[in-house]
Amino acid sequence: MPDRSEKIPIAAGIPDIQSLDFAEGRIDQDLLFSIFDRLDTGVWIFDFDEKRILWANRKALEFTDAASVEELQSRDMGADMSHSVDQRLRQYQQDFCKHDVSFSEIWTLYPKGKAQVLQVVMSGIRLKDGRMALLCEGRPHHEQQPETLRSAEALMHTSVMISLFSQDGKPLYRNTASRAACSAPEAPFEDQFVDRKDARRLLDHLKRGRTSGLVAHVSTTVGRRWHELTIRACHDAVTSQPAYLVSEIDVTELHQTKERAQYLASHDTLTGLSNRTYLKERVDQVLQTADDQNNRATLYLIDLDDFKIVNDSLGHAAGDGLLQLVAKKLGDLTGPDDIVARLGGDEFLICHLEQPGGRGPDWFGQELLAAFATPQLIEGKPRQVGLSIGYTQYPEDGDGIDQLMRHADLALYQAKTGTKNQCVRFQESMRLLRDEHHAIKKDLENAVVDNEFVLYYQPIACTETGQVIGAEALIRWFHPEKGLIPPDEFIPIAEDTGLINDIGLWVSGKVAAMQAHLKDLGQSVPLSMNVSPRQLSDPNFVTRMRSLPELSGCAPDKISLEITESVLLGDIPHALGTLSSLKQAGYRIVIDDFGTGYSNLAYLHNYPIDGIKIDRMFMDDIASGGAIVKLILSLASALGADVVAEGVETVDQRAWLSDNGCHRFQGYLYSRPVPEDRFLAMLEDQTKAAAR
Ligand code: C2E
Ligand code: MG
Ligand code: MG
Repeated sequence: MPDRSEKIPIAAGIPDIQSLDFAEGRIDQDLLFSIFDRLDTGVWIFDFDEKRILWANRKALEFTDAASVEELQSRDMGADMSHSVDQRLRQYQQDFCKHDVSFSEIWTLYPKGKAQVLQVVMSGIRLKDGRMALLCEGRPHHEQQPETLRSAEALMHTSVMISLFSQDGKPLYRNTASRAACSAPEAPFEDQFVDRKDARRLLDHLKRGRTSGLVAHVSTTVGRRWHELTIRACHDAVTSQPAYLVSEIDVTELHQTKERAQYLASHDTLTGLSNRTYLKERVDQVLQTADDQNNRATLYLIDLDDFKIVNDSLGHAAGDGLLQLVAKKLGDLTGPDDIVARLGGDEFLICHLEQPGGRGPDWFGQELLAAFATPQLIEGKPRQVGLSIGYTQYPEDGDGIDQLMRHADLALYQAKTGTKNQCVRFQESMRLLRDEHHAIKKDLENAVVDNEFVLYYQPIACTETGQVIGAEALIRWFHPEKGLIPPDEFIPIAEDTGLINDIGLWVSGKVAAMQAHLKDLGQSVPLSMNVSPRQLSDPNFVTRMRSLPELSGCAPDKISLEITESVLLGDIPHALGTLSSLKQAGYRIVIDDFGTGYSNLAYLHNYPIDGIKIDRMFMDDIASGGAIVKLILSLASALGADVVAEGVETVDQRAWLSDNGCHRFQGYLYSRPVPEDRFLAMLEDQTKAAAR
């Protein structure tokens, strides 16, 4: 009969219980305990929940300096347990519940104040009541250097998550913090990333160097977090196989704060759209995608028509509401890959990546216009909102955002100066025109000082008698190199730049001097001069006009100031006050190009108007009955205003005007605008003829 007691592996750690023959009654519980007590390994069972030792063998009593198992059982191990140890134990408990694993740690115990270093192997053991407890096997550990011991302790306590992976991504080791954060500790490296591309980017980068780093979105036991990961190529100390060591810290709060700050810096607070700040970067990305996919991208600049009128007439809250409404509509019309930004004021940008087989940029532009074709509700009231759109296509119209924006701006300018509510694509001719504008702008700055302007006079005559009964002063610019530049080409630029104020002061001085001269000559014909809207906002203008009679000796009641209808529409602040002051100073106020503006007849009553000049486009209407001219004539008569018909070119037009009670006309039929001396000569001839 074999001696069964010999089979008992006394010093080999946990005995092979299956091999014990309880049935024959030769080994009982006491013998088993005595076997445990003979082991050179300390064995004890720890209750995670109660934080007490449930059972220990003699070696374990030795390690813990306990007099008996009962004494050890009575110790409250949780009493001076640090938070990190507590956390670590809970983590082990969870790990054991999920997996059949064991861990090895180096522990330092201090029985009687003397450090006792143990190598402890821990595994889970299910108690009879079903709870998971900790089975510990400890052996004295002699070889460890203090440095190694400390680093092992540090690894255990640090909040930095440290993990080691084999080259194929299998986890080889996780420190406590890493295990605590990792929802699947056994899963491969890539699995923790919300976007696996981040893992691949990290590893690709590692192939090119020894380390690699990234802030990435990862899945953890507490949900999705932002981790800053650093990985380093190394070798596994156990197998000597290539591996990589990963250290991670949770930077979620910092990342969110940064993202918020970046959001605030890059977005417009009113509309929530992107602002100018990071536009370049974002548009560059779209252009890059267009290159990669061999596609086109279109950049639209969008400007609201007459936004200022909404703002001024309905107030800023309504203006803000309109901008928000437009932002929302633009957002609805565009896709997730498009960029919609507010550039400031009422200007918006859309950068749209064309899809192959898409319906083309003009179609999209028209779609935008169509979205605003019906009245929009602003503060509960329906209102027409017009848009002007200028656009450029990449790569045809520009090679980068700067050029595309400049060109789209030119197209937008064109859209706005046309009939508005249009979608216009950039054309090279616009750039040439802009270059020309730039050149004119530069030269205009010196034109007043260099005395390059001259005033011509175009007679205004009586439709019945053909007598000269007045004249309009019209400016001419004799450019030293380019020759004669007509006012239509430089007045709008002068208005844009504000140079019109200087030019206007010069004109008024000249006209006043001419009027005084006519007075001296005994000529009583009145003169008229054009006044740009912008001049009316210039306080120097009124002061200057007031002082002119005294300075020049002119009679202000013989000078008419021609203003356009737009002045009366509310674009110019204090227009009514300014016009009243000018009227008070004795000047006459005349509306030029009547009928071309918004023709809101109601405003005419409110302003001190002495005369109306019917725009020359209505002269064509005369051949077909002249209904509009008749209407304007009766309106003027009701207002008690004088009427001059402009642009009269034919004898029939003059005859018709005469027949219909319009006594004054101006046009090529009688005379083109002529230099001052020619005009004076005309007057002189007329006086002589009358004397005969
Ligand atoms: P406006 O004040 O309506 O002047 C009338 C324009 O019609 C003048 O053009 C005149 O030459 C032109 N015209 C006159 N009769 C006829 C005709 O029978 N047929 C045709 N086709 N045209 C005719 P001009 O001199 O080129 O001036 C253009 C515009 O430039 C003026 O339109 C006015 O708005 C502006 N302008 C001219 N001088 C001044 C100025 O001193 N100050 C300002 N602010 N604007 C000025
Ligand atoms: Mg005029
Ligand atoms: Mg006119």
